[in-house]
Amino acid sequence: MVSISDAAKAVNAIAKIAKRIKNYELTEKVADLQGLLMDLLAENTQLKAELTEAQHNSDFANKATLKDGAYWLDGDAVPFCQRCWEVEHNMVHLDKTGYGAYICPEEIYRRELHKSK
Ligand SMILES: [Zn+2]
Repeated sequence: MVSISDAAKAVNAIAKIAKRIKNYELTEKVADLQGLLMDLLAENTQLKAELTEAQHNSDFANKATLKDGAYWLDGDAVPFCQRCWEVEHNMVHLDKTGYGAYICPEEIYRRELHKSK
């Protein structure tokens, strides 16, 4: 697999040659190329994170079961908030407040934020 860091190493080698032969136009163009590679690296990192999140969401969507107003995963005794998943694709474990009763910690936080305005 071709990596951006391999490309960056090659461009850095060209940059050294451009400086050594004192070709300022080439030095400037190589610096531009180094900047573009850094932008590509940042974009690549972001896309990898988005792909990981999408795979995680897909796993949850395929495995979770909606029951009694919450999503459940096999082997997990604590359910996930239905609203947070359906509105934002945010997997939030609910907090148990009593027998069979749960509250969403994310939504408590939001209400507190809302009150403080
Ligand atoms: Zn929630």
